[in-house]
Amino acid sequence: MNTTYDLIVIGTGVAGSTVATKAQKEGLEVAIVDERSFGGTCPQRGCDPKKVMTGISAIYDDAKRVRGQGINGNLMLSWTDLKEFTKSFTDPIPEATEKKFRDQGIHTFHGQASFTDPHTLQIGEENITARHFVIATGAKPADLPIEGAEHLVTSDQFFELYQLPDRILFVGGGYISFEFAHLAARLGKKVIIVHRGRYVLEGYDYEMANKLAEHTKDLGVDIHNDTEVTKITKLDNGYKIDVKKFNHSHELKADMVVHGAGRSPNLEGLRLDEAGIEYSKKGVRVNDNHQSVSQPHIYAAGDCSDSGLPALTPTAGEEAGRLLDHMLHGKNQEPFRKAVPSVVFTYPKLASVGLTQRQAKDQEIPYETSSKSITEYFTYKRTKEPGAYVKLILKPYTEEILGAHFISSKADHLVNVFTLAIEHGLTKSDLKRVLWAYPTAESDIPSFF
Ligand SMILES: Cc1cc2nc3c(=O)[nH]c(=O)nc-3n(C[C@H](O)[C@H](O)[C@H](O)COP(=O)(O)OP(=O)(O)OC[C@H]3O[C@@H](n4cnc5c(N)ncnc54)[C@H](O)[C@@H]3O)c2cc1C
Repeated sequence: MNTTYDLIVIGTGVAGSTVATKAQKEGLEVAIVDERSFGGTCPQRGCDPKKVMTGISAIYDDAKRVRGQGINGNLMLSWTDLKEFTKSFTDPIPEATEKKFRDQGIHTFHGQASFTDPHTLQIGEENITARHFVIATGAKPADLPIEGAEHLVTSDQFFELYQLPDRILFVGGGYISFEFAHLAARLGKKVIIVHRGRYVLEGYDYEMANKLAEHTKDLGVDIHNDTEVTKITKLDNGYKIDVKKFNHSHELKADMVVHGAGRSPNLEGLRLDEAGIEYSKKGVRVNDNHQSVSQPHIYAAGDCSDSGLPALTPTAGEEAGRLLDHMLHGKNQEPFRKAVPSVVFTYPKLASVGLTQRQAKDQEIPYETSSKSITEYFTYKRTKEPGAYVKLILKPYTEEILGAHFISSKADHLVNVFTLAIEHGLTKSDLKRVLWAYPTAESDIPSFF
């Protein structure tokens, strides 16, 4: 077997797979390696299984709310059934991914890859060399300086649980905790979120994040802000969690403690120093071409790179495309400026694109806000939604859209419309002029302003 390649890609997630398949189609001799099952986080342990589960729990919620309005009978949400159904999506991924690579003529390797020098990678007993490398090793749960952190259950392990225990505590109030918390609460579990910062869902507009937190509390979830977990102790019947709020200490109890306190680049085991590759806590240090700042023949993309882009699936794919444009066609990339939408798949969902009010203020960008409850709109009233809101950040005089934030069952669809609007510099008048199909969530858009 050829052990010298044009390109070796480390990691088979969205970033690595995109790079490998496109580079091979352009005529490069490509090898790809993964230390876990092929396919990466999104389809096996991230977005997709999460969406199957939260999607079904949303259907359950809708059906329960309209019981007596056309739907009757008892409904039950079952973790075991949800998990089995989710497995029907995740189980085929590794084999299908590897088959696709092989059918295309991409050489596949299994095992942990580590550099022995800037042009050589060691996988088990084997050494392979290449002209170019792409590091696409993703992220892992961040190391937490908490005594007893070894008791924490990761999101990977959460998906694998055969049973959900009755009392679940999430450390950290980010999107993963909120999504799992809504799911667990709908399954009848007692859920607590402990968050170190003042505001949960950091990065989202505070006003909207607080509204979602209120809806989360209405589901029965306890949220403790400004609270730090200091110690986790295993007991005979669960765990004792020591927490500190300002200077007050307190004890909480749970049957399971879940890590929802952020992810960090997965660079362990790569031996980047052997290849002279610079990195920081945020990932492999790269320029706008996603090229290592210290080793120009090595690139990094996705969650493991310090590109400044959010760690999401669409950005991992985008980085892959940008680096290929440079590696294959020598095109220098402009700094990344696209609008990046993101969604918290709770129910209702929270979705956001562009500037938050705080960002506009901090960056001294002139802005106006238009913020309202749309709960009484026909779109939401007909399914008895408990709360729907929109908040828009506009540029005064030009009416350009700077940011758009939504809470509702339709938030994920609305945010895509506003992403398109921001991307193409559309104004309030442009969106008001469109003939939106009626009755749809989009036909409400003209009245948001
Ligand atoms: C629970 C959860 C929910 C999420 N939900 C969403 C969502 O709704 N929307 C969204 O856009 N994003 C979501 N994300 C984030 C999204 O999954 C990631 O941004 C995306 O998968 C990153 O892709 P990647 O290619 O950079 O890395 P990954 O898909 O993580 O792939 C990296 C691969 O590299 C391999 N690897 C690591 N080190 C080595 C090594 N030394 N040698 C060989 N192989 C190695 C790993 O085994 C892994 O397979 C979610 C993430 C999680 C955890």
